[in-house]
Amino acid sequence: MSSLITPRIPGIRFVHSPGPTHVPDEVMHAMQRPMTDLADPRVGALIDACEKGMKKLLKSPHSDVFFYAANGHGVWEAVSANLGSEKHTLLITGSGHFSDQWALQTESLGLSIVRTPHKEGFRIDVSAIEVALREDTQHQIAAVMVVQTDTASGITSDLDAIRQAINRCGHPALYVVDIVASLAAAPFDMDAMGIDVCLGSSQKGLMMPPGLGFVAVNAKAFAWSKTHAKPRFYWSWLERKTDNQSAKFCGTPPLAHMAGLEVSLGLLQAEGLDAVLARHSRLGGAVRAAVNCWATAGAMRLHCLDPEGFSTSVTAVEVNQSIDPEALRVVAREKFQVAMAGGLGPLAGRVFRIGHLGDMNEPMILGALAGIEAAMTVQKVSYGPNGLAAAIAYLAKHTP
Ligand SMILES: *Cc1c(COP(=O)(O)O)cnc(C)c1O
Repeated sequence: MSSLITPRIPGIRFVHSPGPTHVPDEVMHAMQRPMTDLADPRVGALIDACEKGMKKLLKSPHSDVFFYAANGHGVWEAVSANLGSEKHTLLITGSGHFSDQWALQTESLGLSIVRTPHKEGFRIDVSAIEVALREDTQHQIAAVMVVQTDTASGITSDLDAIRQAINRCGHPALYVVDIVASLAAAPFDMDAMGIDVCLGSSQKGLMMPPGLGFVAVNAKAFAWSKTHAKPRFYWSWLERKTDNQSAKFCGTPPLAHMAGLEVSLGLLQAEGLDAVLARHSRLGGAVRAAVNCWATAGAMRLHCLDPEGFSTSVTAVEVNQSIDPEALRVVAREKFQVAMAGGLGPLAGRVFRIGHLGDMNEPMILGALAGIEAAMTVQKVSYGPNGLAAAIAYLAKHTP
């Protein structure tokens, strides 16, 4: 038996990390399809369906979508390879741990970057972006890179406000957004929001196993890249713009993942994107209602201090020093079958995180909150009463 499932526990294990998320049976089954040779017309049809479905989900019918057999870090590198140039700089806006990691990875490739500072508990500071762009009178900044939802903090930033700041400065920089944690959970409209490049991966809102990444690129970004970016090959958007399936993927396409994606995109369309977003918003609200009750005992609180920034994907709960969030996670996972996430980077040991992203519904969230309460009881964590009742009341009030 696989080490991921031993020892067997009866019933369902609740995955409440913000990625990997729960994978629906329909997607799992689709991924078990037989392999085929690459000249089989079904391969081309599958890739075509995934490209069309992604463009629809991103609301950008004319952008190119490039898929990679890679995780989110892989597609970060795809973006660096296609937007990096010796003569230019990339502006990475501070949002928390994920922008820190993105900056570290980009800089390690030898690319020049500038960063804006991040204030814990708050959204991306738009005025700092404006200052950096105004100082850049020579227009060396090729792109403004933004993480929509920083998964470590559970905070979603304001993409429209950042677009407006770039416009106010009259700066020609491309606008690049990491939607790994926010796609199919928070509103996103690539064209209407004026976004030139976005990137994501399979294991979060797309309800798939990890291992498939994508980048969507509009004509402006493609043209910029064609002129300026080098060196590159494997990740190159130029190389991938072809009808030849193996050239398109720079090798064999990840067929099982593409088959899963076709189905997951179909599930999202069948539910309706507005309904998907409303469901995420509702489940996030229920989690915060519970956390706010737990917080009345004074030992924990929501990490996000700006209600406008509450993420519909994940809630970070900040704890005081009397609580060991890692020990709590172990008890929640091993005794109550609820897998939560922990703190990353500067938040390590200071938060636990409850994911409410992907293939998730009301009883799953209520079950998870109950399991977490049980774990907190075992751990003698001091938490205020009525958390579960508050979550139930929230759902009762907000369910359509
Ligand atoms: C998860 C995540 C990543 C990294 O994705 P991996 O697949 O783990 O490499 C990047 N950005 C954000 C916002 C994420 O949530």
